[in-house]
Amino acid sequence: MALKDNILVEKLIENGFKKDEIDLWLQEASRFKIPFEGYLYQTQKVDPKVILKIKSEVLNIPYKIFSAQEEVDLNVLKLLDEQAAKTYKMAIFDKKENTVFIGAVEPEEKQVQQAYEYFLKTHNFEGKIFLITPGDFYKIIRRYHDFYDDVKKYVLEYRKIKPLLIEKSAIRIEGMTETQEQAPIVELVSLFIKEAVYQRASDIHFENLQDKFRVRYRIQGDLKDIVFLPKDIGEPIISRLKVLSELKLDETRIPQSGRFRAYIDGREIDFRISSFPTINGEKIVIRILDPLSGLLNIKDLGILSYHQKIIDEVLEKPYGLILITGPTGSGKTTTLYAFLQSLNEESVNIVTLEDPVEYRIAGINQSQVRPEIGYNFASGLREILRQDPDIIMVGEIRDEETAELAIHASLTGHLVLSTLHTNDSLGVVPRLIDLGVKKFLIPPTLILAEAQRLIRKLCPECKVKSPIPEEIKEEIEKILKELPKEAKKEIEQEEFIFLPKGCQKCNFKGFIGRIGIFEFLKMTPELEELILGNFNLSQAREILKEQGMVTLKQDGIIKALKGLVDIYEVLRETF
Ligand SMILES: [Zn+2]
Repeated sequence: MALKDNILVEKLIENGFKKDEIDLWLQEASRFKIPFEGYLYQTQKVDPKVILKIKSEVLNIPYKIFSAQEEVDLNVLKLLDEQAAKTYKMAIFDKKENTVFIGAVEPEEKQVQQAYEYFLKTHNFEGKIFLITPGDFYKIIRRYHDFYDDVKKYVLEYRKIKPLLIEKSAIRIEGMTETQEQAPIVELVSLFIKEAVYQRASDIHFENLQDKFRVRYRIQGDLKDIVFLPKDIGEPIISRLKVLSELKLDETRIPQSGRFRAYIDGREIDFRISSFPTINGEKIVIRILDPLSGLLNIKDLGILSYHQKIIDEVLEKPYGLILITGPTGSGKTTTLYAFLQSLNEESVNIVTLEDPVEYRIAGINQSQVRPEIGYNFASGLREILRQDPDIIMVGEIRDEETAELAIHASLTGHLVLSTLHTNDSLGVVPRLIDLGVKKFLIPPTLILAEAQRLIRKLCPECKVKSPIPEEIKEEIEKILKELPKEAKKEIEQEEFIFLPKGCQKCNFKGFIGRIGIFEFLKMTPELEELILGNFNLSQAREILKEQGMVTLKQDGIIKALKGLVDIYEVLRETF
């Protein structure tokens, strides 16, 4: 039993959080069907320390926060057996003379109290109980097992069985079942997957190198070597992954893709898998589609007030076309999903056509196109219109037929969201014309064209404040001078920027995670006139400037002055 929602809400407001934001979280928690307290901990919408302090105050139980370096003595930890620790979510983290110090995630629970009392009594210990965060708890109990020890253990077990496996192809070995033979590999694969989810990795790479087998995780955008294994372990691991995701085992010459679902820490997580033949053998990449870390709200995208205002306005409209543009890997899909989630209400019918479906969202009718059997964006769109939709999402508009259908759908009372390949928001207009859309249909349909890039977020722990360097001073001053009034409100200072440095927390990279920079183009009468007449880009740019559009570059510079990103990266990405 977690803290009561209303108490938690009340305390969060006391701690300065806004009611409308909290309401949004409450809705999301109920959509994910997890207790509000657990939702806050898992998504880290609120600093876990804040929740811990609130809970400690309400329950009148002291709390304990562990620093990154703090290690729990294994001998002390193992006084309580692993099974009990996991069942009651409590762990011994210290012992002084006859007193044990126990951290518990839910000390308010009756069974936890009983288990605690029982443990003290049977061991004749004195005890002190502390509230700890689930994050700290999982970090502590991972000490029961060392990841690398476990990897080694399963590799050795496999090695022991392997000669038998080879023999088995010739003679049948009695008393040995399929599961026994595969057990170490099954365990090994699930260990890699669990560890990746725990480390909040976005992808896992399983690679056959010339003489080794390598496992890498992509964490916060960077690939990191996790382990090198002997080459002969590679093949059974790859086979296990292919079985998991129902790929053809005997097909190793062409790429295949699939997906599977697993329960990890009580949560359902989807994994998308793709195999690729290399000269050293097959390579497998798994994309981890953890809705709690991958599905973002509009508020989490890094959108500032001037853009938020436009979104609020546009998403209110009953029909029209919303196009998101940017290169591959610029977070377009994440933005589309964020828009869809905010539009997702009981009273509307949302239908999507995706390639592929990434995250499953409750309440939305998601469909995956299959071009190989003729079910593509265009044919799918035609079918969708017979499904009485209010809102339609089409993964991408890349041919004339899809463009025509999307325009038609938005003209006939539907809100249509999609992506398009262009460099900036204005590029949407000539691109649509290229795709055969009649000029006069663009102004009445296109309600928003958005361009975006993803750039690295500075590590808040180690970023270094610095005056704006001489070499870019002139350029920055010029950009700031041209800033629309609305955008100026977001700037608190114009003297300093922040530079990356590197520390333990960010793995000495200077950056942690990424954030979007955006550009929003709204249809206006002036722009409409230009589109219907002789459209040219430079004239259109002038009009947008007068209208007060904040450009990609300006949005990036503002984020640099706010200390969120590196100014040089903004200048590089937006030239
Ligand atoms: Zn750092």
